[in-house]
Amino acid sequence: MKLHEYQAKELMSQYEVPIPEGRVAYFPYDAWMVAMELGFPVVLKAQVLTGGRGKAGGVKIAKTADEARDIAQELFGKTLVTAQTGPQGVKVRKLLVEKASSIKRELYFSITIDRTIGKPVVIASKRGGMSIEEVSELYPEDIIKIPIDPAVGFLPYQIRRLKYDLDLVEQEKEISRIVSNLYKLFIDKDCSLLEMNPLVVTDTNHLVALDAKIEIDDNAIFRRKEIAKMRDLTEYDPDELEARFAGLNFIKLDGDIGCMVNGAGLAMATMDVIKFAGGNPANFLDVGGEATPDTIAKGFEIITRDPKVKAIFINIFGGIVRCDKVANGILQALKTVEVKVPIVVRLTGMNKEEGMEMLKNSGLAFSVAQDIKEAAHMITQITKPKKEENQTTKETNKKEK
Ligand code: GDP
Ligand code: MN
Repeated sequence: MKLHEYQAKELMSQYEVPIPEGRVAYFPYDAWMVAMELGFPVVLKAQVLTGGRGKAGGVKIAKTADEARDIAQELFGKTLVTAQTGPQGVKVRKLLVEKASSIKRELYFSITIDRTIGKPVVIASKRGGMSIEEVSELYPEDIIKIPIDPAVGFLPYQIRRLKYDLDLVEQEKEISRIVSNLYKLFIDKDCSLLEMNPLVVTDTNHLVALDAKIEIDDNAIFRRKEIAKMRDLTEYDPDELEARFAGLNFIKLDGDIGCMVNGAGLAMATMDVIKFAGGNPANFLDVGGEATPDTIAKGFEIITRDPKVKAIFINIFGGIVRCDKVANGILQALKTVEVKVPIVVRLTGMNKEEGMEMLKNSGLAFSVAQDIKEAAHMITQITKPKKEENQTTKETNKKEK
C-alpha cells in the first residue's frame, strides 16, 4: 500500500525526521490560506500515488498567495501523466502546500528489502533529485548499498560510511539521528519501501526530507490499523475496490478477454497464454482458493461491467477446491448474474470429468476446452477481429472505386 507524500512526511515527522512546514489543500482557496500562513515562496505539490511529478508539472513554486491559488486552480483540474502512471494519468485531488526550501545539495536515501539477501538494505547517493534508476544507469559508482542485519539494526560504522560517502561530516549528528529513526520507522510500520528523494542540505546546512515516499507491505496491513486508515480510496479504481472488499484479487487491463481464474500464478499464466494466442486480457482476476458461487458471481458482475469484454475465459485448477464444486459455483452464479458474452471453460485437477459433465449438461452455452492451449485458441477465435470480412470489404471498396 502506497502512502501519499504528506502521509509519509507525517510519519517521518513522528520519528523526528525534519520535514518542510506545510499543509494539505483541497481547494484553490485552501492553498491561498496556507500560503498566507507559511510565508513565501511556497511550493505546491500534487498528492498522487506516483513518482516523477516534478517533470510532469506536478510540483510548482509560488511567490504570492494569489499565485499559489492560481497554480492550485490549474493543478486541481489536471490529470498528471508521469513516467510511472501510463497514458491515462492520475487526477489531482489534493495538494501539499509547503514552505519552499533553499537547496544546496540534493541527496538520495532509501530503505527497502533486498529479496536476494532477505534483509533490509539502505540505498543512498550524492545524486538526489533524479530517479534512482537513472542514477544507477548513468553513475552506478555513486550508489551506496548497505545491507542491514535485522538482528542488530543499523550500526555506528554504517552510519559513518554514509556520513563520509555523502559528504555529511558537518551534519553528522543529524544524519545519524535521521537514519536510525527512519530504520526504526521502517521496521515499526512494516514498510516495504521508505524513500527520500531528495533529502536536501539546505542553504543553512541542515538536512530536510524534501520528498517522501512510503510503501507498506500489504501482508502486514492487518496488524497496522493506524496505517490501514490512511488508505486513500479515491486513488483506486472502483471495480478494483469492490473486488477487494469481496475478497477477490482483481486488476483491470485494457484488452477484451475477461479472465476468471483461481490462484494468482495460474491467473498470470492465463494472461500469458492469451497473449501468446494473439488475444488481449481485459483483467487479472484471482477468485481465490474457495471459488464459491458468491465470489464467482461477483467476478462475473465486475468483468461484464466492462463494455470492451467480448468473451470470458474461466480457467480453474482443482487443487484445493474440486472442479465439480467450482462448476456448481459457476452454474449457481449464472442464475444470479446475466452474462451475455460467450464463455470458454477449462477445468483440470480433482473431479475434472464431473465438473465438465455438469457444465455440458447445464443447457447453458459454454465452450468446454480440454486443455489451456485449446481454451486460449477458442477464446481468441471469438475475440479476434474477423480478418476475412475486412478483406472482402476492402476488396469490394476497391472494385467500387
Ligand atoms: P517528484 O518529482 O515526484 O519526485 O517530486 P519532488 O518532491 O521530489 O520534487 C521534484 C523536484 O522539485 C525536487 O527534486 C526539487 O529539485 C524541486 N523542489 C521540490 N520542492 C522544492 C523546494 O521547496 N524548493 C526548491 N528550490 N525546489 C524544490
Ligand atoms: Mn522526488
